[in-house]
Amino acid sequence: MADNGSAQSAADRTEQVRLAVYTRFASDGRAPRPAELATDVGRTPAEVRQEFRRLHASRDVVLDPHDGDRILMAHPFSAIPLGFSVMGARTLWWGGCAWDSFAIPHLVPAEPEVLVATACPGCGAALAWTVGRAAPPAGEGVAHFRTPVADAWPDVVRTCANQRLFCSTGCVAALVARDGGTRGYVMDLATLWRLARGWYAGRLDRGYVRREPASAAAYFADAGLRGPFWGLPTDGGA
Ligand SMILES: [Zn+2]
Ligand SMILES: [Zn+2]
Repeated sequence: MADNGSAQSAADRTEQVRLAVYTRFASDGRAPRPAELATDVGRTPAEVRQEFRRLHASRDVVLDPHDGDRILMAHPFSAIPLGFSVMGARTLWWGGCAWDSFAIPHLVPAEPEVLVATACPGCGAALAWTVGRAAPPAGEGVAHFRTPVADAWPDVVRTCANQRLFCSTGCVAALVARDGGTRGYVMDLATLWRLARGWYAGRLDRGYVRREPASAAAYFADAGLRGPFWGLPTDGGA
C-alpha cells in the first residue's frame, strides 16, 4: 500500500497544515479555523483539527485550551491582544509580544516595514515605532522581558503578555514597584530588533525545523543578550 510518490508521509501532511496556518496568518492577520483550511490542503475539517493538536504538541501553534479549533498563537502571529498592534501596508495584526511584533516585518515578504504601537505599561503613554529590515528603529524605549527563556513555554501566553515595551527603565521600575512582580531582563531597541530579526526565519517555508537549544543560545549571544536569563554565561567584564 505504501507506494513511493502517492504516499505522503504523516510528517509531510502535518507540515502542509502548519504551512497553511502560517501562510493564512501572514496574509490575513488572523488565525484560520479548520473548516477554512480544509479547502487549502484538500482534507476534511476533522483531519485538520487532528493536525492542529499535533502542531500544538510540537509547539508550532498554541491552541485555546477550551476550543481546539481556535489557534491563539502561531509565533510571531497572535490571534489575541497582548498589548501590541502591528500595521503593515495591507495587513493589520495583533502583535503578540515585543519580540514577535518586531519580527513580523522580517518574516512577511510583502510587509518590509510596519508600525508597531503599544501603551507603556509603566505610565500608559502611547508609543509607536516604524520597524523595518535594514536597521533598528529610531526613537527611545526599552524592552522588558519577565520570564527566563528556559521557563517560557509552559505558559507561553503569559510569557508573551509580559514581554513589553516601555518609555524608559524608569517606567519598568514604576511597573515593578506597582505590581510587586520581579524585574526581568531589560534591553534597548537595537538589541530587541536583532533578537527579532532572524528568530522566526523559515516559518513561511515548507520544511521548517524548530531551532535546537544550542543554536538558540548562539543566536541570543549574537543578538547581544547576556546571562542566565537567556541560558548564557554571565558576561565576565561588562
Ligand atoms: Zn512610560
Ligand atoms: Zn511572544
